[in-house]
Formats: sequence, structure tokens, C-alpha cells
Amino acid sequence: MERFFQTKIEFLKGVGEKKAVLLRKELEIFTYADLLQFYPFRYEDRTKVYNVSELTEHLPNVQLLLRIRDIQQLGEGNKKRLVVKATDSSGQIDLVWFQNALFIKNQLILGKDYLVFGKATFFGHSFQISHPEIELYEGKSETKSFLQPIYSTTEKLKANYLGSKAIQKLQSQLLQVSKSYITETIPFDLQKKYRLISKQEALWNIHLPTTAELLAQAQRRLKYEELFYVQLNLLSSKLFKQKNFKGLSFQKIPTLNVFYKQYLPFELTNAQKRVIREIYDDVRSGKQMNRLLQGDVGSGKTMVAFICILMAIDNDAQSCLMAPTEILSQQHYDGLKVFADKLGINIAKLSGSSSVKERRLIHAALEDGSLKILIGTHALIEDKVQYKNLGLVVVDEQHRFGVEQRSKLWRKNEKVQPHILVMTATPIPRTLAMTLYGDLDVSVIDELPANRKPIKTLHRTDAHRLQVFGFISEQIQEGRQAYIVYPLIEESSTLDLKDLFDGYESVQRYFKDVHVSIVHGRQKPKDKDFEMQRFIKGETKIMVATTVIEVGVNVPNASVIVIESAQRFGLAQLHQLRGRVGRGADQSYCILMTDKQLYENSKTRIETMVRTNNGFEIADIDLKLRGPGDLMGTKQSGALDLLIADLSQDSEILKVARNDAIEILEKDPGLNLPENKCISLQVESSKKGTVNWSRIS
Ligand code: ADP
Ligand code: MG
Repeated sequence: MERFFQTKIEFLKGVGEKKAVLLRKELEIFTYADLLQFYPFRYEDRTKVYNVSELTEHLPNVQLLLRIRDIQQLGEGNKKRLVVKATDSSGQIDLVWFQNALFIKNQLILGKDYLVFGKATFFGHSFQISHPEIELYEGKSETKSFLQPIYSTTEKLKANYLGSKAIQKLQSQLLQVSKSYITETIPFDLQKKYRLISKQEALWNIHLPTTAELLAQAQRRLKYEELFYVQLNLLSSKLFKQKNFKGLSFQKIPTLNVFYKQYLPFELTNAQKRVIREIYDDVRSGKQMNRLLQGDVGSGKTMVAFICILMAIDNDAQSCLMAPTEILSQQHYDGLKVFADKLGINIAKLSGSSSVKERRLIHAALEDGSLKILIGTHALIEDKVQYKNLGLVVVDEQHRFGVEQRSKLWRKNEKVQPHILVMTATPIPRTLAMTLYGDLDVSVIDELPANRKPIKTLHRTDAHRLQVFGFISEQIQEGRQAYIVYPLIEESSTLDLKDLFDGYESVQRYFKDVHVSIVHGRQKPKDKDFEMQRFIKGETKIMVATTVIEVGVNVPNASVIVIESAQRFGLAQLHQLRGRVGRGADQSYCILMTDKQLYENSKTRIETMVRTNNGFEIADIDLKLRGPGDLMGTKQSGALDLLIADLSQDSEILKVARNDAIEILEKDPGLNLPENKCISLQVESSKKGTVNWSRIS
């Protein structure tokens, strides 16, 4: 069976050498399996045939049954086009082609009836459809599906007779020959429980749906299957790690106790205490910890990380803390060094700008074990960085790192796996977390320190800029500081930079006696750092910046953040930015500036921000608005290369599938029971690449 689906695509009738090359290149379809899993991305309802007299411009794509009355090539040079006049009993319409005119012309026959499909627009004094799909009408056929599947293709494919229709034909061809090879992948009990149709029926109906009902059944079945196997893989890899990966066991906590008694600057929140307990249970167990720490901005994750680091130190292990930006790692370093010094612990910072001499010292101290805490950016991953006994890796703002980068850190201790604590402030909806981090344990800090006042968020249009400036002015007089943020969607966009500089100038003009900092991604790290530090120390009162300030920057005295062109930011990013204020005891404000006119999605985003401070609620809405693929930092994650399931819509199926996977693995971790045979076979074959999930994006 496996071998059958591994058959190269050129062996399918109707494909041939040339088309095979194109399918590989354009769609990454190499084998029968690839083709079969190349699902339509939508379906068009071809059950209705419109009359020309019924057409309006507001209709979406329509289907018409037309007789061809006239075929002409008109125009010269650029304006060359093929114009076909066609009629039904109610009226006349023009079909127009600007490309491939000759090819189309040779295919059409005067006086014959065609099914025509496309978007009708009113032009001159009649309707026309440009580049319609067109097919000779051969009378109503029984087998024909009226839910027309639409496959994504490319111009190149279309030009080579591999449009959506042609792909459907190939699918039909393949389904006929593979009938006896398609085996069931979901255990019978589960099939029965959810009334899932068989794999074979599902594949058939996803490509050639006979009724809307069967199509829905096919989608439900394939989504369930996909999510079930994603979860099964994640969970079994988690199980495998739990069983086989030993971690250092941190039993003693003398330094931590000293820290608690003498230096802890505030009372921990209950959420922090709970999470620390969860971590402590992990690191004592002798197993390796793999934990995701989720907590909204300002919830105090850093302190939890430091306490965790002290546990490592008390047990003769080293720790490293990796942050996504230079500024952030500097801030972590400055913040933690204060405590480390008091406790007599050796701490260092390694970054891209560390000198050769600094590096050499750090490397040596890491290797002889005298350096206990290393903080830094990606520089920590370099092969040269070797530890005597790395026991804990903390990764801050995890979404900025790819999986590959993380796993490099995992391997820094050859004897035992270091414990891993991944921290993120990007609130991730539960469904997404289950998929992205399904192999990690999750802790959540769901409480802000008590001294915080909720940030007030306001929406103002550009016409109110002077008022907003006036407000900032008042805040500065009261001793506070302010951020003004400009969108810089692409680091290289000069247009965006111009906005930033224009803004900077007008701020300087208005706030004559106030020192203003400017920070953006195209500055040298040194300059950026210098400006950041001035703001952190309170020497400058206003920071005009791009989103480089977004992650983790902590200036408790800043009480206002103004976000310019707020409609251009995504929700997650707006929420992150807002988290730059509200870190001290003062009332803080987030002011979202936009044009007067807002379009649907941007309106929803702004309204959501004004309405709530709840990161998880925001994340859910974000997921609905944008779909999971666009959520921050999730792009690189292979976990999201789903073929048919959609995490923003299928969370119910996901939950069910995950629970089923958990139940099965608990009962039968090795998948040895006869009823799970079909699962183990499927897992086996997907490992061998028969079903290569990653190839089709
Ligand atoms: P984040 O979770 O966004 O990384 P931080 O760790 O930067 O948050 O903490 C934000 C601020 O809150 C810091 O100034 C930190 O010292 C302070 N903080 C952390 N925990 C508490 C607490 N329990 N009580 C009061 N302030 C706290
Ligand atoms: Mg932080």
C-alpha cells in the first residue's frame, strides 16, 4: 500500500514527463500521496445556472449556459483581445480574453452551447466576463459534481493545461486507480463514536463531492484525522522525552532561601508562587523539565525565571537566559545583576557586540564553571559557547526564535538535558498553544502584581493630535515619560522611516524644552542602546520609536504610549506595545491614533483594544481576524502546516482529537493493541515520508 502511494506522479495517466516537472516545481507534488492530499481550497456552487437578464454587478461568480454567436479578435498590440458574443434566451453577454487569445479561439465552436463561469461586470452597454472558465456543455450528466472544487494553481500551470479543472480530472483519475489501496487510519471505535465516514469515502468526496452534505462529512473526517495525528505525534514525543530524558535534580535551595528572606523586593503574586511551585516540582523530579511559561506583559515572568536560575545555582548547575534583542538582554542583565551581586553570584552578558577579549573571558569562565549565569541574544547559540554543567535554559519571548535555534540550546549539555523554561508574553489562544507547544507543559501567570492600575486605552483621530500632545505634556510635568510609536512594517521601508523622522521633528517642535530620544531598527546597535539607556535613566522624557521597543522593555516611569497609524498594526502587536506602560504604580494610558476612516478589520482591532486589556481575549479575536498562519512568529512553525484543518475555526475538533490522542497513549503508549494497529501503521508510514506533511504548504 505504502509503495503504491509513493509512486511518482508521472506514472499517473494524463500526467507525463512535462506535467510532472511542473507539478513538482509549482505545487511540490511528487507522488500519488502528494496529489491525493492536495485538497481544494474552496468549492463553488455550480448548482445554479443564471440567466443573463438576472445579472447584477453585485453577484459573485456566476454560472451561465450560453450559445456562442460570434468570435472576433480585436485591437492591436497591447490592446489585442478576443471578444466572444454569446447569448441565452434572455439576453447577450461578451466574453473577453486578453491573454492566450489564439489558444482559446481555436477551442471554441460557433453555435455550440457552453457552461461559462466568472464574474460579470457591466461595461459600456452590456455585461461582460473577462477570462471566464468555459466548458463545452454536453447535457446534464449524472456523475458530474455541482460543487466545483477549486485548487490553487499558478499561471504557469494554467498555461500548460493544469488549471483547477485539470487537477480535478487528475484527482478523479487517481481516485479510481487507488480505490483498493486506501486504508483506514482512524480506529473503528472512534469512527463510530463521531460517525466519521471512511477514509476512502472522505478522499473521494473532498475531491469530487456529490452533495454538500457529503462534502461536509469529508471535511469533518479529514480535519479530525489531521488534528488527531498532529496531537498524537506531539504527545508521544512529549512522552518519549519524559521517559528518556533525565534532567539534573535540583534538591537544595539555600541561596534561594537567602534571596527570599533578604532581597526579594516585593511580595510574589499568588500566580507567581503557583508557577514557581510547578517548576520546582519539575526540576526536583530527576526528569527534564520542558515548560512553557505564559504570562501577559508585566505579569512578572523575569522574577520567576531568576528564582528558577537560583534553584540551578544551588545545585551546582549553570543557567543561561536567551532574549530576542540586544536591548532586552541588556535589561535582563542590568535587572538581575543587582541581585546576583548581592548574592555573590557571577553573571555575564554575551552579545553580538561583545569584544573578542570579553568573549574569551566568558568562554573560559563558562568552561571552568565559575560563571553561573549567562545572558544574551542569539550569540548564546554559537558552537563556541560551551558550559561546564548547563542545567537550565530560559528562553524569553519565545516566539522570536525558530524551533531549530531552540533545539541547539537543548544540546549544550551532553550528559543530561538542561531544563527548559520558555517564556512568552504573546497570549496564545489555547487551541494554538496545543498545537504549537503541544509537547510542552504549560504554566500560566494569570494575575498582575497588585500595585498595578489597568491601562486606559483611548482612540483618537489625527485631528486630535494637539490635544494628545497637550496630555503628554501634562504627564511629563507630573514627572512621567511617554512613548510615541510609529509603524515600521518592514525594517527597510524608507517610507515608514520618513514618517518616523517627520514625527520626531514635529514632536521636537512642540516639546521645545523636553529631551526626546529616537530609536529605530536601522540604527547601529550602539546608538540604539545609548538612546534606550538615556530614556531608561529618565534623561529623555519622550521616546519616539518604531516597534523595536515592543518586546519586554521595562521603564516603569513611562505612563503614556501613543501609537501612530494604529490601524496598521496587528492586534497582538498593539497589545505588546501597550504593555510597555502600566509597569509602575501610576495610572497609564495607551492612545491609538488613526485616520478618521477605518475599514472593517482595523475597526474591530481598535475597538477590541479599547474594550479590553485581557491578552487571551485579544489573542482569540486576533486568531479569528487573521487566521493562525499570520499570528506573530507562528510562520516558521511546521506545526501549522495543516492541510485541511484551520486552527481558528476547528478548535472544537482539535480539543476532541487531542483528548482522544491522550486517552489512547495513556492506555497504549506503544500503540501495540490490535485496535490501534491502524494508528501505528499510519505513524510508521508518515515517519518514512509516505505521507509527507511538510511538503505541501
Ligand atoms: P514580564 O512578564 O512582562 O516579563 P517583568 O518580569 O518585566 O514582566 O515584570 C514587570 C515589572 O513588574 C518589573 O518591574 C518587575 O520587577 C515587577 N514585578 C514583578 N513581580 C512583581 C510582584 N510580585 N510585585 C510587584 N512588582 C513585580
Ligand atoms: Mg519580560
